[in-house]
Amino acid sequence: MLADHAADPLTRDLLAFIEAAPTPYHAVAEVGARLEQAGFRRLSERDAWSLAPAERGFVVRGGGSIAAFRLGKKSPADAGFVIVGAHTDSPNLRLKPNAELTASGYEQLAVEVYGGVLLSTWLDRDLGLAGRVVLADGSTRLLKLPGSFCRVPNLAIHLNRDVNSGGLTLNAQTQMLPVAALVHDGGGLELRERLAAALGEGVDARAIQGSDLCLFDTQPPALGGARGELIFSARLDNLASCHAALSALLAAGDADATRVVVLYDHEEVGSETAIGAGSPFLEALLLRLLACYPATSDGFARAIAGSLMVSADMAHAVHPNYPDKHDKQHRPLLGKGPVLKVNANQRYATDGPSAARFRAACAHAGVEPQTFVARNDMGCGSTIGPIAAAGLGLRTVDVGNPMLSMPSCR
Ligand SMILES: [Zn+2]
Repeated sequence: MLADHAADPLTRDLLAFIEAAPTPYHAVAEVGARLEQAGFRRLSERDAWSLAPAERGFVVRGGGSIAAFRLGKKSPADAGFVIVGAHTDSPNLRLKPNAELTASGYEQLAVEVYGGVLLSTWLDRDLGLAGRVVLADGSTRLLKLPGSFCRVPNLAIHLNRDVNSGGLTLNAQTQMLPVAALVHDGGGLELRERLAAALGEGVDARAIQGSDLCLFDTQPPALGGARGELIFSARLDNLASCHAALSALLAAGDADATRVVVLYDHEEVGSETAIGAGSPFLEALLLRLLACYPATSDGFARAIAGSLMVSADMAHAVHPNYPDKHDKQHRPLLGKGPVLKVNANQRYATDGPSAARFRAACAHAGVEPQTFVARNDMGCGSTIGPIAAAGLGLRTVDVGNPMLSMPSCR
């Protein structure tokens, strides 16, 4: 029986969202555009805010993090905050400042590895270049070069005879350099000129003063598998959670509690940055939202004590070819519900009470959650959950949707 997943508007919307977000900056821009379209006010952290109960708004920090809110009918001191957190970044290859180089007749790009990249998955894929540039007038502009700009070629099997038995090892400095062109007489890649041309409107290449540029898989997200029930895509970790959080906030009606969605950059590199989950971004926002209500000196402490954060990130589904990599009792399956992530050593922030809150929410939505616990003899990933929980003293539950191949280029 063929289920018509292609017709599901939320699924189609997820695919479009991921395609619109090749970098964290594009993800934030896309989230901001969707919020504005739905009537949320764009606010600046530099301005004074004056907001009334039930108002909706959002704020961007550093171009890669964004937080949106819908104020409650009651003060957060009385009704608390209900927060969903996720992250906008994915492991990828990023251009070094002096990126252009030539070798063996090729124009290549010097790249840096951002986060925990599964290097082999970036080989032999059609890679695009996107990101942001800052111009001399101080303005920041997003851009995406047309087409598939480069490729990191595999070494032919004839030149690497033991690769299938010995495994593929890759040196990130010397063996991950993409090929972008053949060398021609009288001119290099002229990357800055290409970036300026992508901005259009006669932007002078010399006006580009700063840049953050990422490689990405140019193949659009798609539904696949015999029944069209599988999603084949880049950056599911963690744009799928960003999309779910945003969709939930946009669909939410008025309530007593203040609802917040915070989507952080820099999760893949530890979150301890000015805009990451280790920063005061969320705390500053919650304090300002609380200040929209009549003040009491104990208001913030009461608000935090009555709040819950859902840290939403992707989870490891059991791999059919490697079932032993999972604890037998805690093997999440695709299509069998969201995953509660548990770790006694607090790599995940879930505890009994927060798990119970999430189970109740699942029951309300008519879904049955699964649980994930890593094997005791294997390491365990982490999320923004424990960082946000420690920074604010927030009760937090770590959850996610199961996926395979994390964090593959696709
Ligand atoms: Zn993640």
